[in-house]
Amino acid sequence: MDLEIVTIGTELLLGFTLDTNAAKIAQTMAGMGVRVVRHSTVADRAEDIHDVVQQGLQRAGLVIVTGGLGPTRDDVTKSAVARIFDAPLVLDEDYLRNLEERFAAFRRGPMPVSNRSQAEVPRGARILPNPRGSAPGLWLEGKPGIAILLPGVPHEMEGLLREEVVPRLEQRFGVGGSRRVTRSRTLRTTGISESALADLLGDHEASLSSVSLAYLPQGIGADLRLTVWDVPSDEAERLLQDARDRLLPLLGPYFYGEEGVDLAAVVLTALQASGLKLSIAESCTGGLLGARVTAIAGASAAFAGGVVCYSDASKIRELGVAPAVIARHGAVSEEVVVAMVRGVAQRFETETAIAITGIAGPGGGSSGKPVGTVWLAARAPGSERAVRVVFPGGRSWIRERSAQAGLDLLRRMLLVEADAGRQT
Ligand code: AMP
Ligand code: MG
Repeated sequence: MDLEIVTIGTELLLGFTLDTNAAKIAQTMAGMGVRVVRHSTVADRAEDIHDVVQQGLQRAGLVIVTGGLGPTRDDVTKSAVARIFDAPLVLDEDYLRNLEERFAAFRRGPMPVSNRSQAEVPRGARILPNPRGSAPGLWLEGKPGIAILLPGVPHEMEGLLREEVVPRLEQRFGVGGSRRVTRSRTLRTTGISESALADLLGDHEASLSSVSLAYLPQGIGADLRLTVWDVPSDEAERLLQDARDRLLPLLGPYFYGEEGVDLAAVVLTALQASGLKLSIAESCTGGLLGARVTAIAGASAAFAGGVVCYSDASKIRELGVAPAVIARHGAVSEEVVVAMVRGVAQRFETETAIAITGIAGPGGGSSGKPVGTVWLAARAPGSERAVRVVFPGGRSWIRERSAQAGLDLLRRMLLVEADAGRQT
């Protein structure tokens, strides 16, 4: 079964409100085996709504519409769609009474006259009761196809989708059970650009046959999204698992986790598994890395603490970096970052540590050390590493990328290199 999704609202079209309804509906419907073929967004204009829904019905036969069901003048969805079905709006006395009772119960006053319009429904339409708001959902069915109208408020829409729309579609079209589904899985990488990743996988993409691969750059890494389209539900997981197993060896050290996992959580899990503690010394990231780590619930099991040492004086005072080293090599240097990582590990008595010092810009760069130059260091039992990176982007990206790369350096020392060591 094909489905088109139409979201209505001038604020959506112009980008002031993010269209979360389309995403939610698409995920839900694809997950239950409906083929989602198009999203459209139009303003609160009757002609545009009429045309886009009519075309969607002609193409797919089933259209879910959200928005524009409120009681105000800009809410014109119902009448525009009713015209497609040749169904005049008629007052539903039962629903009107129901609305009035709810207003009486909650607001202790008469219902505003404008709410009356919400009890007007296209003749023949089924009302989908909305316990979370005043605008009901509507199910219109006839020669043009099936149009399901849902309110725009996201939690009202989601409630109706879950409680009214999904069960009815399952019942009507037998989706569910041994149905065909569209499913995805995400592999997360960092430390490699999207294009280098594509080079790495290019030759192998064809061998994934029915699994499509999308590259989703995130600024601090690239996600690979594997999708199987319209396959029997019991095959979906196997196909995705096969593709994952094929890709992981190719991704090598760049792969760090699946779905929405944060790199900080991966590092914390590895530390906890080995009973290691972490401390952090940050200059140009100013606490960003500490915030990433402490955003993960349970961080206290492995994270001891950190120092934000922005000035030279604070690097000397808090971390014991030698003044002569800063004078000779500059604060953004291998010598200083190594002194920082040793200093913080000693001060917090931790077996592992990360240190970051760099030039986030926009000022402060030079030809030898351009803006974006960052020195990172990490310590783990039996190893210590320092790397120089030059990150692209503005100040905010340079800081985000530094924090991510600091975490990744330690992850590799703990997981990737330790594994390699075990195998040799
Ligand atoms: P409406 O039903 O069009 O009156 O919308 C009610 C509220 O829900 C407004 O604040 C809209 O901005 C919001 N809304 C409507 N459609 C969407 C959508 N597709 N995604 C997220 N929010 C929406
Ligand atoms: Mg609206």
